[in-house]
Amino acid sequence: MRVAQKPAPLFSHGRGSWLHDDRGRRWLDLVQGWAVNTLGHAPAAVAQAVAAQAGRLLQPGPGYHNDRAAELATRLAAASGMDRVFFGSTGAEANEGAIKLARKFGQVHRGGAFEIVTFENAFHGRTLATMSASGKPGFDRLFAPQVPGFPKARLNDLDSVRACLGPASVAVMLEPIQGEAGVIEARPDFLQALRRLCDERGLLLILDEVQTGLGRTGRLWGSEASGVRPDILTLGKGLGGGVPISALLAREAVCCFAPGDQGGTFGGNPLACAAALAVLDEVLAPGFLAGVQARAGRLRAGLDALGARLGSPPVEGRGLLLALELPNPDAATRAAERGLARADAAQDRPGLLLNAVRPQRLRFMPALTISAAEIDQALALLEALLRSPR
Ligand code: PMP
Repeated sequence: MRVAQKPAPLFSHGRGSWLHDDRGRRWLDLVQGWAVNTLGHAPAAVAQAVAAQAGRLLQPGPGYHNDRAAELATRLAAASGMDRVFFGSTGAEANEGAIKLARKFGQVHRGGAFEIVTFENAFHGRTLATMSASGKPGFDRLFAPQVPGFPKARLNDLDSVRACLGPASVAVMLEPIQGEAGVIEARPDFLQALRRLCDERGLLLILDEVQTGLGRTGRLWGSEASGVRPDILTLGKGLGGGVPISALLAREAVCCFAPGDQGGTFGGNPLACAAALAVLDEVLAPGFLAGVQARAGRLRAGLDALGARLGSPPVEGRGLLLALELPNPDAATRAAERGLARADAAQDRPGLLLNAVRPQRLRFMPALTISAAEIDQALALLEALLRSPR
C-alpha cells in the first residue's frame, strides 16, 4: 500500500554510518532508520546476539517467562529507576500501553478520571489512541472521530497545561524533545514545573522517550537534562538498534494492570530482547556516552558554523538529535533530494541521506557511533548540497 513517498533506491546492505543499494551506490546516512540504529547499520554486537539467539529460542509465547526478557527487564528497570516493564514491538504500542495504564490508574485510584493532557505538535504514534494523543496538524480529522480524552496544551507554557486540567484529568504526557515536530525541546524548567504540578494534583507524568531514549541526547535518557523522573516511561526506536522492540516502564505504585488487561503476541520475544541487551551493553559501556557527547559537540559546532555562513539561527536539540533551520523555503526538502540523487557508483561519489523534518528544517539523527571523519565528511557534503544552484 502506498503510505509514504519513497524514493527509488533499493537499499540492500549497510555498515555503520553507510547505507548501500543494489546498484553499487552508497550514502552517508544521517537518518539511520529514523533515529533507530543506535550503533549504525548491521552492528556486529547486535548481529551476533540475534544470530546466537535465533539458534536458541525465538519465542516461547507471551504467556511464559523467558530468560532474555527477564534480564532485559531487570537491566532497564535498574537503568531507568522504574520498577516494572511491559514489552511491545513499536513505539506506538508502548504509548498505547501507557495510555491504557493511566486510564486504568484513573479507574482504580482517581474515581474514573481518564483525561491525559498532551501537546500541540506532539507525536506519539499511529494507532487511533496515539494519533489522538498526538498534536500533529491534521491528525484530528484523519480517521475521525478521534479517541476522546486528550486535551492539548502548548509546550513550555504551564498556564496552558493548567487550563486543560479538570476533575477528569489523570496524567500529562509529553516528549522531552518533540522529534517529529522538528526537534523542539521541552525546557528543563518547564519539565520541572510540570513535575511539581503533577505532584500537587496527583497526576501521572508520562514521558515518551521513544526518540530521545538510549543515549540519543548524549545522556541515557532525554529527561536527564532536567533531572525529572516520570511515573511512566516509554521506549522504542533505538532500544533494539534496528530490531523492533519497545518498552513501557512504570513505578510500582502506578502498575495496576490485572492479568488480561494488556498483552501482545510478540511482546518480550527473546530475539528482540537479545538485540536490546546487546545495545544496552554498548551504550552503558564506560566512555560510550562521553563519546556521543564529543561527537555531538563536533556535529553541532560544524552545523552552527555552516548555519552562520548561510544565515541560519543556532542549531536546536541535544546530543545527536539536532535540527538546522534554513533561510530559504523548501531548502531542506531540496537538500534531501539532492543528497539522495548525488550518489553515483561509476564515479564512486557518495550520497548523503538527510531528513527534511519540515521543508525549511533539517533534522540530524545519525548513528551514535558516527566517527569524527564521517561527521566532517557529512558537513562538507551538506554544505555543497546547500550551496549548489537550483
Ligand atoms: N513516539 C515518538 C516520540 C516518536 O518519535 C515515534 C516515531 N517517530 C513514536 C512514538 C512511534 O513509534 P513507532 O513508529 O515505532 O510506532
